[in-house]
Amino acid sequence: MQAVNLDSSCKRLERIEIMFRYQHCHSVVVVSLILSVLVGSCNTLTPQVSSKVLIRGAALIITMDSQVGTGELGVIEHADILLDRDKIAKVGKNLQASSAHVVDATGKIVMPGFVDGHNHLWQSLIRGCGADKNLIGWLDTCVFPLFNPDIALTETEAYAGVRLSTLDLINTGVTTTVDWSHAFTPQFVRGNIRALGDSGLRFVFAYLGTADPASIADIKLVKQTLIDPNPRAAFQVASHPSESLQADLTAMSNLAKELGVKLHVHLLENIAQREDKVFSVLRDANALGSDLLGAHGIHLTDQEINTLAEHDVRILHNPLSNMRLASEVIRLPELKQAGVQVGLGIDGGTNDASDMFNDMRAALGLQRAISLQPGIFHRVADVLRMAPVDGAKLLDMFDRIGSLTPGKKADLIIINPGKVNFAPSFEWANQIVFNGQPVNVEWVFIDGKALKRKGELVGVNAETVMEAAHKAASRIRHDLLH
Ligand SMILES: [Zn+2]
Repeated sequence: MQAVNLDSSCKRLERIEIMFRYQHCHSVVVVSLILSVLVGSCNTLTPQVSSKVLIRGAALIITMDSQVGTGELGVIEHADILLDRDKIAKVGKNLQASSAHVVDATGKIVMPGFVDGHNHLWQSLIRGCGADKNLIGWLDTCVFPLFNPDIALTETEAYAGVRLSTLDLINTGVTTTVDWSHAFTPQFVRGNIRALGDSGLRFVFAYLGTADPASIADIKLVKQTLIDPNPRAAFQVASHPSESLQADLTAMSNLAKELGVKLHVHLLENIAQREDKVFSVLRDANALGSDLLGAHGIHLTDQEINTLAEHDVRILHNPLSNMRLASEVIRLPELKQAGVQVGLGIDGGTNDASDMFNDMRAALGLQRAISLQPGIFHRVADVLRMAPVDGAKLLDMFDRIGSLTPGKKADLIIINPGKVNFAPSFEWANQIVFNGQPVNVEWVFIDGKALKRKGELVGVNAETVMEAAHKAASRIRHDLLH
């Protein structure tokens, strides 16, 4: 109850300040300053900047840590979580913290935030584009023309699209995203990263580069000046494995090693890419290894799956995108059998229903549909672990995120099962996968700060963001179609 009261008092004070500014704009300077101080001190009591937050009385906590809770999902019933600044301090029953801001989680489910391992955030601007195309047709229609400098996205447009996608991600409970950026121009990159930074998301920026020395210089500059100073940001280098781009791939593979970051490529997404001699060019670029991330990994032979396993190459599975682009179904049971790590991704504009619940259902459903086996890998619990746990592990971030383990970052979501799409209570862990929707995600915490609170996005005017994205999308649509 304390939380509710504090929140509503803060809203009252903010409203008073706005009224004074509006009605007495010629003589309000002193009054306005006083009220601003009050609003400021009030904000210290909200989850955004509070040093401690006590999430009290959750009906179910899925910690994803079998040392903290029971079973493979690390479950605890009727328990609390204490957040101290950006970290999880304690998980258990009847926790006390007199100075903490209290969030009442009675009847709710708490779990780690989702890790979206492969995305292209600018592509909210091309939602709905190339609806009847496969990957190649979609790229030719909706993406590749934008490399033409005459119609390339501006910094403002990049910001607009990426910012919209960040809201979509927070809304669905994603707390970490990997943004494989097409990096059309250096200006685009600036707008892209600024939007990611403003979002409050934990993010990895994957910069698509070439062997051109100017490209390499900008990648280094961006990492040093825009990524490294941000504690929520990390960096990857992006490229594409095909014979015609061997020089670029080799340059990016070398650069990734020099910078100590991962190389992120699209790997055999469409059957036509088998002609690209993908594995021989990856070998020639000395790219095979645990720092190689392959998005999709669909059209793989048995031998190639073994090669991935042998080198600990990691795969990002994007099932909704694969369905949309008629790309085929990933060989998930075989990858699992070989020991290849696989995480989940949203994959940008080819995923017109970009929510993680849909993604989990599609990942599960595709394997069942093609095998006629409801017990085939992965099971419901496996797919529920896939986004938070497997995603964090394959990014080598599991020491910080992916489970509700004390000491880790306070990146978590509170799910409200009391909605018409989710109730009643039968087997909640299963219902998250089969029934969950973004509307059930009531709170999203990243670094202990609430970015979604009681079902509402915090600190941003979504209407303004959508308006800017609409303006950018209208321009792009016009230039793509004419
Ligand atoms: Zn992709």
